[in-house]
Amino acid sequence: MCRVCKEARARGIPFYRTGPSLYVPEQNILFDLPEDIREQLNREKIGLIEHVFISHWHPDHTMGIRILEQMNYNFALKPDRKSILYISKETANNLGNQLLPSFIPLYEKREILEVRHIREGEAIEFGNLEITPYALPDSDTFLFRLRQGEKVALYAPCDIRRFPVKEELMNPDVLVLHLGYSKELVTPRFLLYYGDGEDSFDENLQTIRRLGAKRTVFMHIEEAWGKSYDDYKRMENQLKEFNVEFAYDGMTIIL
Ligand SMILES: [Zn+2]
Ligand SMILES: [Zn+2]
Repeated sequence: MCRVCKEARARGIPFYRTGPSLYVPEQNILFDLPEDIREQLNREKIGLIEHVFISHWHPDHTMGIRILEQMNYNFALKPDRKSILYISKETANNLGNQLLPSFIPLYEKREILEVRHIREGEAIEFGNLEITPYALPDSDTFLFRLRQGEKVALYAPCDIRRFPVKEELMNPDVLVLHLGYSKELVTPRFLLYYGDGEDSFDENLQTIRRLGAKRTVFMHIEEAWGKSYDDYKRMENQLKEFNVEFAYDGMTIIL
């Protein structure tokens, strides 16, 4: 077992990290369904979820989809409930073809899920919160812009490469960003297969500069990078000029 895992098992949160997701409490919106979602929701005492956004089809963002059945399907005592799933057509197709063919159609049939297709640049309103999806190049992955009044947050959880430079995405108050790989750590094989598919940490820093992000929270932190919570705390101090933080389970972001 590696040092990071050993420490995580012995000391728990914040050394222990589960899969990538984000919850917006006021409007009851959840972004992404990692396989750890049940554990995450129980831990944070979050009950029924009304709105679920899926960033892309990859298993680390979708394998927790069965939580919607546990949450909404009640065959005996009470009427069923419904959650709304916001997903692009392409992502829904990819998920059906490559990973979980039966889930969305089954849940739609049981009326515990309603699918709404999201499209690039089309905003969805939740009271005074506006959520707009933006597509990443050459992938089915979306990043999301959350705007409430003057405040803007970007949620860019995975597969970040060539971050789109658009007027609406500039100068976010908070950028929640997929942590890129460290060039010093990875093998030549990794660079061959993934080097073009994901940004490195150096490219993350360029993105922060280019966007003029006021604050950045790195998420999707893999134990493969070999760093513990304490190492990331040290990095935060070294990178003061970028105003970065490294997420941990249960972290609260106030906009
Ligand atoms: Zn991912
Ligand atoms: Zn991914």
